[in-house]
Amino acid sequence: MTDARVLVDDEGTPRQTASRSRTVLDLVTYRTTRKLFRMWVPFWLLVGGIAVWLARGPLELVLGAVYGIAVYSLVEYLMHRFLYHWEPENRFVRFITADVGRHHMRHHREPSDYKAAINAVQTPVVILCAVLALAVLVMPQPLKAAWLISVVSGSMNYVAQELVHFGTHHMRMTSGLLNVVKRHHMLHHYRNENANFGLFWTFWDRLLGTSYEQVARRETRRRADKS
Ligand SMILES: [Zn+2]
Ligand SMILES: [Zn+2]
Ligand SMILES: [Zn+2]
Repeated sequence: MTDARVLVDDEGTPRQTASRSRTVLDLVTYRTTRKLFRMWVPFWLLVGGIAVWLARGPLELVLGAVYGIAVYSLVEYLMHRFLYHWEPENRFVRFITADVGRHHMRHHREPSDYKAAINAVQTPVVILCAVLALAVLVMPQPLKAAWLISVVSGSMNYVAQELVHFGTHHMRMTSGLLNVVKRHHMLHHYRNENANFGLFWTFWDRLLGTSYEQVARRETRRRADKS
C-alpha cells in the first residue's frame, strides 16, 4: 500500500496515512500505544500480583494463564467473525455493541490509516476485565489465582494482538512466524473477508473451517455445483 493521501481529522489537523513502513519505535511512541500501556500495566501488576500471592503453586498459574489465552483468543475470533463485520443501523444496537462493527469496517475500507489499526477505545475493555477480576475475588470459588491470572493473560493476549495487528499493516514483518501472521491477515483484507478471522492464533480458523484455503475450496465447490 503506497497511499500518500493526507486526511484531516476531527480537530482539523492533517493526518498522514501510511506512506512508509513504521518501526517499533514509531509504534511505542504513538499516543494510542502509550495510553494502552498506561491503562493496562497497572491492571496487570495489581491483578497479577494478587494472583501470585494467592497461588498455591506455579502449576496453578501456568494452567490459568494458558486457559486465559485460549478462551480470550477464541472470543476474539468469534467476535471478529460474527460481530465486527456487521454494521447495524439501529442506534440502540450500535450503542450496546460499542459500534465495533463500524470501527472495524472503517479499518477495512481504509487499512492504510495507521491510527485505526489499534483500538483507541480501551476503557470499556479495562472495566470489563476489572469487573471479572473483582467477581473472582468476591465469589467463594476455588482456584482464585488461576482465574485471576487468566484475566491477566487474556488481556495481555488482547493488547499483544492490537500491536501485532498494527504491525501486519504498517511494519515490515519478514521473519518466519511474523510473516505467516502478516500473510494470514492480509488475505483477510485483500482476498476474502469471509476467511482468516484469527490474528496470530491462526489455528482457530483451521479448526473452525474459516482458513483462506478452506473457504476458497468451499467457494470453488459451490460454483462448480451451480454450473
Ligand atoms: Zn475484519
Ligand atoms: Zn481488525
Ligand atoms: Zn487489519
